[in-house]
Amino acid sequence: MGACRGASNVSNMEHVEFVVVGCGPAGGMAAREAARAGVGTVVLDKDSTIGAKRVCAAGLRAGFCETFALPRSIVHCDTPRLALFDARGTEYGLSIRPGHTTTREELDGTIGALAAAEGAEIRTSALFRGLHREGDRMLVDYADLRSGDRKTIVARNVFLAQGSTAKLEESEFAYEGWQNGLVTTLQYRVYLDRPAAAIAYRTIEMHYFAMRDGRMTVAWMFPKRDHLAIGLGVMGKMAGGQLREELDLFTERVRARLYPAAQFTTKLEGHLLYGSTPRPKIAAPGAMVGGTAAGLVDATNGEGIYEAAMSGRFAAEAVSAARAHPRRAYVRYGAALKNRFYGRLRHRAELMRFLECRPSRYAVLFDQLANSSHFIDILQREDRERTLSEKFFLYGQALRFAARSFQGSS
Ligand SMILES: Cc1cc2nc3c(=O)[nH]c(=O)nc-3n(C[C@H](O)[C@H](O)[C@H](O)COP(=O)(O)OP(=O)(O)OC[C@H]3O[C@@H](n4cnc5c(N)ncnc54)[C@H](O)[C@@H]3O)c2cc1C
Repeated sequence: MGACRGASNVSNMEHVEFVVVGCGPAGGMAAREAARAGVGTVVLDKDSTIGAKRVCAAGLRAGFCETFALPRSIVHCDTPRLALFDARGTEYGLSIRPGHTTTREELDGTIGALAAAEGAEIRTSALFRGLHREGDRMLVDYADLRSGDRKTIVARNVFLAQGSTAKLEESEFAYEGWQNGLVTTLQYRVYLDRPAAAIAYRTIEMHYFAMRDGRMTVAWMFPKRDHLAIGLGVMGKMAGGQLREELDLFTERVRARLYPAAQFTTKLEGHLLYGSTPRPKIAAPGAMVGGTAAGLVDATNGEGIYEAAMSGRFAAEAVSAARAHPRRAYVRYGAALKNRFYGRLRHRAELMRFLECRPSRYAVLFDQLANSSHFIDILQREDRERTLSEKFFLYGQALRFAARSFQGSS
């Protein structure tokens, strides 16, 4: 994204109030809510279909459908149980506010259709190429992959939501920590010829262990109506063959517990995820960055759909609230997003680094969680939803965890 370029003849170009780049949960939600508020909105997505196959475990936090007014029909399984596995493979079963699973094909496809129903124009096979500032407007360049034409839209505000592959490192939103925060993921969709153990369909599993080369991985099993999503992720790069071997070993362990007698077929998929501290700069006059492109992912568990959708909501609110002064939308957006998410996401990234330094610490934390339903309950809520006494309780638990971790290390 360039800051500015030589003057162009904008008068004969297409003019749009709000351009959204990417139609994942962040872009789709921004488009839906902006269009509903009467903002002229165009969405560009490189894929030929919204909700084309996405690599994701697609776990949704409790209340997701209600928060974003989405139909319950997208939910595959309700999961009132979280199973955490420490570095030695010991399982800690926790009761949680029931989350859900879905697939991204359904989630993104549904949000995209709702955005279109509100009046957003969604252009597929539209590959975003760059953004330039010219006076008080933004010039958005994209390639129409069907015709092969290069096109430019003149926009008042742009929301960049291209996910983990967003190329922002040459732009004003560059963040030197970005590259080191990228996680390589690989996942199987496992289709069984008979149901797995009943508990599998009410549980999401998260596993934290060292791979054979000593690097830490986070692995998961998320149940779906017709398959199990079993995958893992590792910080940085890893050769495809090596990662697949690790995934095979992990999948075999899950198979032995949950579907020992079933025949199955698998489909392999991989993608990059970002899993560290959020991007420091996410807003500038006329431009806002959201979702995973902004680094809004919980480093401890890879959750980012909620944060992405919420960033889309904030972008839509900012654009519609600042219609009289469109260039101010970015100020409102940046403040809302940082205020809501940055504290927690930074803490989660620090916690993950602390745990990975000494993997025995996972057991200390999980034991503490398993012994206090109050602790779990508070952790599942956002800071602004917690009472003062709950914040003190959390602080006490954090101190206890730190003390027990250091005791165990000495
Ligand atoms: C293996 C894996 C498992 C995960 N599991 C979970 C989970 O269980 N729960 C959870 O909450 N989160 C999970 N996440 C994280 C979640 O996928 C992301 O947080 C979420 O997708 C972010 O949404 P987004 O809208 O920011 O970006 P994305 O969902 O990545 O959407 C980006 C969109 O931009 C489009 N795009 C990209 N580049 C361009 C371009 N140049 N031009 C035009 N369009 C473009 C893409 O086609 C896509 O539609 C997981 C991620 C991975 C990789």
